[in-house]
Amino acid sequence: MHNLILKATHTTLAVGKMLCLGKNYEKHAREMGGDVPADPVIFMKPATALLRGGGMVMIPTVSHELHHEVELVVVIDRAGKDIPEDEAMSYVLGYAVGLDMTLRDLQSSAKKRGEPWAVAKGFDTSAPISEVLPRDHVADPHALTLNLKVNGETRQHGSTGDMILKIPAIISYLSRIFTLERGDCIFTGTPEGVGQVVAGDRLAAELEGLVAVEVTVGQR
Ligand code: MG
Repeated sequence: MHNLILKATHTTLAVGKMLCLGKNYEKHAREMGGDVPADPVIFMKPATALLRGGGMVMIPTVSHELHHEVELVVVIDRAGKDIPEDEAMSYVLGYAVGLDMTLRDLQSSAKKRGEPWAVAKGFDTSAPISEVLPRDHVADPHALTLNLKVNGETRQHGSTGDMILKIPAIISYLSRIFTLERGDCIFTGTPEGVGQVVAGDRLAAELEGLVAVEVTVGQR
């Protein structure tokens, strides 16, 4: 259970389900060789994927290609269903920076075969998340800078202002499908610049000037 607690500034929080958006930045959709999807691409990570506050991301034996995707994570404060867009921000507890670690080789073959992404996106340690910054500490969540360094070198640098679906629309859309609960985490998609990391690499992800999380890659 210890693994399921996220530290917010003055409290601890049990993490619920992790809902994730794919292709929510145009330049990332293009670098993946596709167009911006007409409807949101949604997938999930299980609770066992969480890596609270950083640590070791372990590549499972079934994969040989791990990619980084740095993302803004929206943490939900209270339960809601069918939430209107104009009320959506009142359901936000806070924000964190997360890494949607992805087994790209398995994801690519799953896409070709029309199979699910459960393994490629949901393996143990695939969801490192920083501490949660309370909502009131962030003036505008669509004006944040995402930064990811690998071994000290910048690989991804983007603005949350470039998200295609904005946070109120994401919360409203998801809540029509899934009941949202306190502690649920929404990965809002990655800007361009994704790439491979290998055992021994050190990753530092940050919401610039706000929160950060660091991980090291290992091979099982
Ligand atoms: Mg992603």
